[in-house]
Amino acid sequence: MEEDLRRLKEIGKEIILLDHIKAILTWDQETYMPPNSIEERSEQISFLEGLFHEKIINPEIGDLLSKLGVTQDNPEGRFDLEPIDRAYLREFYRDHTRNIKLPERLVVELAKESSVAQSVWVKARQNRDFKMFVPHLNKLVMLNREKAERLGYMDHPYDALLDEFEPWMKTERVTEVFSGLQKGLKEIIEKIKEVPQVDDGFLLRDFPVERQKEFGTMVLKEMGFDFDRGRLDVSAHPFTTTLGSDDVRLTSRYNKNFFKTGIFGIIHEGGHGLYELGFLKKIKGNILAMTASLGIHESQSRIWENMIGRSHAFWQYYYPKLKDFFPESLGDISLNDFYRGINKVEPSHIRVEADEVTYSLHIILRFTLETEIISGNLAVKDLPDAWNSKSEELLGIIPGDDSEGVLQDIHWSMGAIGYFPTYALGNLYGAQFYSALKGAQPELEKMLACGDFSGVLNWLRENIHCHGRIYKAEELVKRVTGEELNPDYFIKYLKEKYSEVYGLSGF
Ligand code: ZN
Repeated sequence: MEEDLRRLKEIGKEIILLDHIKAILTWDQETYMPPNSIEERSEQISFLEGLFHEKIINPEIGDLLSKLGVTQDNPEGRFDLEPIDRAYLREFYRDHTRNIKLPERLVVELAKESSVAQSVWVKARQNRDFKMFVPHLNKLVMLNREKAERLGYMDHPYDALLDEFEPWMKTERVTEVFSGLQKGLKEIIEKIKEVPQVDDGFLLRDFPVERQKEFGTMVLKEMGFDFDRGRLDVSAHPFTTTLGSDDVRLTSRYNKNFFKTGIFGIIHEGGHGLYELGFLKKIKGNILAMTASLGIHESQSRIWENMIGRSHAFWQYYYPKLKDFFPESLGDISLNDFYRGINKVEPSHIRVEADEVTYSLHIILRFTLETEIISGNLAVKDLPDAWNSKSEELLGIIPGDDSEGVLQDIHWSMGAIGYFPTYALGNLYGAQFYSALKGAQPELEKMLACGDFSGVLNWLRENIHCHGRIYKAEELVKRVTGEELNPDYFIKYLKEKYSEVYGLSGF
């Protein structure tokens, strides 16, 4: 038995090595690769993807798993194994069977179709012309439906797609959680509408990019991000990627005349990066050294970006420093006005620029449309109308054209259906974790106001980061907070915060 487990871990190690090598190529492609080098780079990446697929469907894995007692009904294998090894078997079995169920033809077709669709999507968005994107999105939806059928599901084909990004989560559960969330968010937005709006015009003044970088790097270091095990670079769309267990790369982008993009992007990716650098030593380089779900990953970035990075306590410490960095643009702005400005709530069209209250409504919109598209209740050609009427219902605004509506996000053109819910789930997990963190550390705000993040980081490391995917997301939430996912924590957090920002009462 020991020999079988040892051999399985050897194969697992090679799979992770391939994954990290591929990450080096894609990271380089997004940051430093010269523009005309894309052709061979794409070949290199798809070659590695082929190797990866071959490795993960290797029948030897199936043999070893069954020798170790793994079956569909008992995915954790023999009961006499260590719990951590049983988790290892469960996750390996999951990765192996998901890949086996997808024929190579389907995987290749999805990759090819999404690469074409992405370039068409860029043009469609520029020309505000959804029609040119329709045949490509239709194809991707068809392929995703086939993917769902092959992976299998109990209730809704969307379950099979969601499961790739938020393992073990079901469509029905998301629908239930989102309906409570929607109700709470609308109540807060209605209240905010009744009071005078805050002024955030100063955020559009001049903020030289080099100084933004310098400030952001300082914050990132003080958050505890280790620059001997990671880097911060620039890319068109911010992301975090892991190139090795001691090598995590963050990227950000900057806008000279919009302060929030750079600094909050850095803090957000920093939250992702700290998670990736915090796995237990004994699962280093192992298939357990990754997140339990994208929603859990997102909770880490949202805790840092919103709950900490947009808090009054955080800026009590950093605002005087920020003023030294940008004396011309912030000299006449008080801490309170700055705090209210960065937390302005206003329904808007673009998801990535949305505030923390309206953000999740953007996700509910996409989730509703995705599930209807996959179940066949909504045709791709009718998406713009459905989008606009849903936007009016949820946000009270209708996009001026499809570039700020149905064409704004890249995800569908990448064939990624089932991804969006993880962003809102991240807000919910984040608030639930943050409430437990505050319960464990009553002095938290005082520490933040002194620029001391050790309490936050140690708590996140001990309770969340170290575990990787040893626990399923739902188990992790229960372990850390004592109950299952509950949207009330997020609503409560928002009500408290925005009562203060807007002087609201009556919640
Ligand atoms: Zn994120």
